[in-house]
Amino acid sequence: MHFATKVIHAGQQPDPATGAVATPIYQTSTFAQTEPGQHQGYTYARGHNPTRTALQQNIAALENGQHGLCFASGMAATDAVLRLLQPGDEVVVSQDLYGGTHRIMSQIYTPAGLTFRFVNARDLPALEAALTPATRLVWLETPTNPLLRLVDIRAVAGLTQSRGIWLAVDNTFASPYLQNPLDLGADIVMHSVTKYLAGHSDLIMGALVVNDADLARQLAFVQNATGAVPGPQDCFLALRGIKTLHLRMERHCQNALAVAQLLASHPAAGPVHYPGLPTHPDYDLARRQMRQFGGVVSFELRAGGVADAVGFMRRLRLFVLAESLAGVESMVAHPATMSHTGMPPAERARIGVQDTLIRLSVGIEDIHDLLADLEQALG
Ligand SMILES: *Cc1c(COP(=O)(O)O)cnc(C)c1O
Repeated sequence: MHFATKVIHAGQQPDPATGAVATPIYQTSTFAQTEPGQHQGYTYARGHNPTRTALQQNIAALENGQHGLCFASGMAATDAVLRLLQPGDEVVVSQDLYGGTHRIMSQIYTPAGLTFRFVNARDLPALEAALTPATRLVWLETPTNPLLRLVDIRAVAGLTQSRGIWLAVDNTFASPYLQNPLDLGADIVMHSVTKYLAGHSDLIMGALVVNDADLARQLAFVQNATGAVPGPQDCFLALRGIKTLHLRMERHCQNALAVAQLLASHPAAGPVHYPGLPTHPDYDLARRQMRQFGGVVSFELRAGGVADAVGFMRRLRLFVLAESLAGVESMVAHPATMSHTGMPPAERARIGVQDTLIRLSVGIEDIHDLLADLEQALG
């Protein structure tokens, strides 16, 4: 099946009991058994629920993977991976990282005895030098937030596969429509389903996809044992959202490119970060690794400081000021005062998060309205 067919059909057959075409919301905690131990594969909904099963199979298919697992949030999915490690194990992590991922690693799992080495994963020799005999996992994010830098997944897999180290890729920013890390040699794909997969800013959910049956068994054990599972209503909404993933992503990408081009030529805008611009340092890698360039654009104002960035955001009428991204509606965020506020200004500047850096999650509205809104706000 091709992608546009999989989003609609993978994991979803008409309901065997009634023929319902839309996957039913199995709003039940448990399932009747005819004799003790005799059931139809479903015993208790923390372990398995048919609505969740359909979604897990669907997301696995979109990532060209064998096994999918859904969790109550993206962070719960990440947590499930880290729970497979033991005190003394080491993890090498790309330093350009979602804040919540940094937090769970440094504040939950470092005290529990894991060691995390944060490296510039775009520097392969530096990444290789951080690998030790205790390294069990390499964790990447690409494209990164908020600067949209890329890491070469295939090149990193070349380092991990020969050493028996798991490679996990947070594929949230790309979505499976644009990039499939398992095909490039990764062992684990992680998604915040909250973002492009569900796509409508109406639920929180996470997912993992793997090919290895033993790894899938270990993760399913954690999923059931710790119980951070999504409810059937949210699984239904995610399945419904995914049915238009390909259509939404096409428009997100098309609109984001137009926004990036407008900003690149606007006198009030400074550097523009979008991997689809030929001036982007990772443009060639983006063309190799991704099918298109995604829906997130960040840029700096040409002059000014925090107050000017805030003023720009206040003047926007269509872009909603909010944490999160990847919904159908356009959103704007200011990393220096929102996601990266815990970081000292000098450290922020060192990693490239300038005071006037603004992140746009470009939605699927009419592009003329989006461009007009940005132009009036830039002044
Ligand atoms: C949002 C996000 C997460 C966390 O997912 P939640 O669903 O909010 O728990 C992880 N990684 C990236 C890149 C994200 O954007």
